[in-house]
Amino acid sequence: MPEYLKLAVAAIRAAYGDYTGLVLKTAKHLPKIITLIIAILILIIIVPATFFKSIFSLSNNQTMFPIACQYKSSFSNDFGTGRVNDGQNEKHEGIDIFADRNTPILAVQDCKIIKIGWNGLGGWRILLESTDGLKEYYYAHMENYSSDLQKYKDFSGMVCENPGISVKVGEIIGYVGSSGGFYSNSPTRTDMGTSPHIHFQMWEKGKTTSGSYSENLINPYYFLKNLHDKNK
Ligand SMILES: [Zn+2]
Repeated sequence: MPEYLKLAVAAIRAAYGDYTGLVLKTAKHLPKIITLIIAILILIIIVPATFFKSIFSLSNNQTMFPIACQYKSSFSNDFGTGRVNDGQNEKHEGIDIFADRNTPILAVQDCKIIKIGWNGLGGWRILLESTDGLKEYYYAHMENYSSDLQKYKDFSGMVCENPGISVKVGEIIGYVGSSGGFYSNSPTRTDMGTSPHIHFQMWEKGKTTSGSYSENLINPYYFLKNLHDKNK
């Protein structure tokens, strides 16, 4: 007798005593019992697992390329290259991803917004921190924010810090443009006059071996390249 049938018989014996007829009747209805067992397993294992998965997904570390895969974009490893910003010689601290003006820009990971608003050099920009607290992502030179964030374009100050907004991986946060380009935080909005692109900058955060807090600017080229290649 198969193990599961023995178990079913034992369960019936325990509940009703040793009624052979009932056992035979049970055997005849075995598929129904198996269906019932599967249903019970679903209830006690799969449903709670799905429930817990949805809880854990609150700190999802899944990542996605910042431009939706159906839009054309291009970038190269231009991190650290010489730049003249507003007349000053500097090193490029991110990667420029070129795309058509108004191409949607996506959150690369589940994040909270740390800063949003105008910055002379970055233009309309957003600084995000991943919900696991391990990364920061900076997007600059946007044409526009998403409709949900549009009010920060009308924000009377230059910058709003920690507005208490979370964004999900893949959520549209804004659109590609060429805003910014000048150090002066003059309320007169400026445009770089370059091809539309987003400047994507990234930091890794954490504790050093000595226990002190660290925040390291990293070259996001390979991070972006991996995400871009995954989308193909
Ligand atoms: Zn740049």
